[in-house]
Amino acid sequence: MKDIGFYIHIPFCDSKCPYCDFYSRKGTEQMYEEYTEQLIGKIHDSKYAGKYAAKTLYFGGGTPGIIGAQRIGRIISAVKESFFLDTDKSEVTVELNPGLNTDYYKLRENGVNRISFGLQSAVESELELLGRRHSSIDAEKCVDKARSEGFDNISLDIMTAVPGQTEESLKQSIRFCTDLKVQHISAYILKIEPGTVFYKKRAELSLPEDDETATLYECLCTEMKKAGYRHYEISNFCRPGYESRHNLLYWRDEEYLGLGASAHSFLEGKRFYYPRSMQDFYDDNIIDDGTGGDEDEYIMLALRLAEGVSYDRFEERFGYKLPEKYIKRCVQLEKNGYIKIMDGGFSLTEKGFLVSNAVIAYLLS
Ligand code: SF4
Repeated sequence: MKDIGFYIHIPFCDSKCPYCDFYSRKGTEQMYEEYTEQLIGKIHDSKYAGKYAAKTLYFGGGTPGIIGAQRIGRIISAVKESFFLDTDKSEVTVELNPGLNTDYYKLRENGVNRISFGLQSAVESELELLGRRHSSIDAEKCVDKARSEGFDNISLDIMTAVPGQTEESLKQSIRFCTDLKVQHISAYILKIEPGTVFYKKRAELSLPEDDETATLYECLCTEMKKAGYRHYEISNFCRPGYESRHNLLYWRDEEYLGLGASAHSFLEGKRFYYPRSMQDFYDDNIIDDGTGGDEDEYIMLALRLAEGVSYDRFEERFGYKLPEKYIKRCVQLEKNGYIKIMDGGFSLTEKGFLVSNAVIAYLLS
């Protein structure tokens, strides 16, 4: 039986954050119930049910916690029944918003063993600008409560390049997370996406220039290292052994099944997804997104990770050695300090992480 990752998209939020491009909308109890029932039905009726085992399960959104621990538990039971999920061995993550009233005990009892809180910032003025509906004190209380109810794998998301953010204010957010001694911290650069409120008023936002964004990223890397976190992916840091197993699977170009409006999948060599519409999900309107998993995609994703590209893993995956052309380009990139060539492979340096898109584009050109 082949292992895969399993992703569930819950598309409900209390209100829309001005920077957010994810598919989410306001819901009601009735909508939460209908959506849960649809998910459970599609998990059992999936043509992949019984053929694959879910080695990770990830509830993303939206605000998955908003549907409540009981419904999340029912969905987990369905994945256990049809995709052999073993909650004692598999990583089961739920994204939550601080400030949301959550029954942590019930989540834990239902098999959730990892929580990812969308903190974004520990600076009140930044939280307000980002349209977040919680304070740093709310977040601290949530982490404490989750821990006291049995969670020992907690992640916090923060943002860099927030309008008006300084090195000092970023350090304040980092210190907040590291003082709480959470196991995992994700730090994504704010991107202004078309269609968002921030996009419409981008001229009024004091967005950092590229060099300021780079300085903030360097500050982030330095502070995380000082606090003993391992920089295992461009935007992710963890205590040893607490990498996100679900996200590692994406970066290692392994297969996963996504269910829910806007959820993407990569299975049996094919990529496909549900459109950003609940009705399309209910109607099983699945969009074919071509094939996936070729060598360029594999290298591009592997380079997001500190472990980088392994020659052995490449050969095991494709049945032939990594073509010489990549190694030649790596030699040039190593001279410029963007790539580190090791015994069994190569990876980006921290300088390379900063300009990863350009470095990867050159390597794959
Ligand atoms: S809570 Fe998360 S998913 Fe919902 S609108 Fe805000 S950023 Fe988007």
